Amino acid sequence: MLPAPDPARFRDPRLRPIAEKVMAGQRLDSADGIALYDTHDILSLGELAEWANDRKNGDRVFFSANQHLNPTNVCVLRNTCVFCSFARMPKEEGAYTRSLEEVFHEAEQARGAPTREFHIVGGLHPKLRLSYYADMFRGLKERHPGVHLKALTAVEIAHLARIEKTTIEDVLIQLREAGLDTMPGGGAEVFSTAVRATIAERKLTGEEWVRVHRAAHGLGIRTNCTMLYGHVESAADRIEHLSMLRALQDDTGGFLTYIPLAYHPDNNELGEDMGRVGSATTGYEDLKNVAVARLFFDNIDYIKTHWPMVTPFMSQIVLQFGCDDLEGTVVYERVYHEAGARTDMHMPYRRLVDLIRAVGKRPGERDSFYQPIRERFEDLDTLGAGAAAPVVHAA
Ligand code: SF4
Repeated sequence: MLPAPDPARFRDPRLRPIAEKVMAGQRLDSADGIALYDTHDILSLGELAEWANDRKNGDRVFFSANQHLNPTNVCVLRNTCVFCSFARMPKEEGAYTRSLEEVFHEAEQARGAPTREFHIVGGLHPKLRLSYYADMFRGLKERHPGVHLKALTAVEIAHLARIEKTTIEDVLIQLREAGLDTMPGGGAEVFSTAVRATIAERKLTGEEWVRVHRAAHGLGIRTNCTMLYGHVESAADRIEHLSMLRALQDDTGGFLTYIPLAYHPDNNELGEDMGRVGSATTGYEDLKNVAVARLFFDNIDYIKTHWPMVTPFMSQIVLQFGCDDLEGTVVYERVYHEAGARTDMHMPYRRLVDLIRAVGKRPGERDSFYQPIRERFEDLDTLGAGAAAPVVHAA
């Protein structure tokens, strides 16, 4: 257990009463959260967040061996989510829609690799029906019975319910029967109505996103949650967003982890309008978004850093700022690379272990429900997951 911080030493006096609350196990309120975002005393913020993480998770840092699959980048909201670089119109250059055989072919990367989870997200295709996804999940489970399916954001689930003219619950039940295990947390962006009107005016509202996750939790389907930061949102918007997630977690306990996602401005309209192309979030913001989350979420056990967005180097540093979960092997990340992420598209298994050990933490491979499955790594040389070249398809 780390020694408790001494608030009297904090340079920013506003952090002292917040530290007293954290150490007494009291919940932070919105004003506390905004003060945390506002402070320039980043080292005290980090020390406090790291202490709170150590109290919850000790010195263990989890990671996973996972593979991303993106069946289509065709999306009916392509022209209204102005922060998105991934989506295409059906006939636009670069648009693709995989056949099921192509998806299964790409998933073959998992054979012979330590992959334990497929992370499956894509666009809102106007013609891909529920049966396409159900057949995909069945096919993946048949071919890789031990691999967990974490698939489809709340936005994709709501889209399927709309085109099938059925309920969210019905879509979730059918997908669960086909093999869906958990859901990712994407599509949340920032819940504020004003922010959404600027960056994603036709996307699911914040309340609707929460409703989909509440329905999933009600059916026993665990999910993740996220926030996309670093665009037009204010500290108050961020705290409102985190408060809505915290309230749902109070009700259901269904969230597994929270992942702050850094906005990338390349190849999207918002980045051009803001004059931000080539200028991603700052390291300062990346640190704060992890540390504030760790302190604000007293009811979510794990905070994950997504290295494809903030770089492996920044992800390594946030492991000292309250973060306990390092995004996994990620064979192969495409969504943020379209938006200008300059990181690799995958991370070899042994490099994850090395990154964690280098900050004096204890690596632990986890399953998708955050159960430890491997804590000894003597045979690392045989675990170079994702070292091969990406599978290439005709678009
Ligand atoms: S953010 Fe999602 S819903 Fe919006 S355009 Fe991109 S893929 Fe479509």
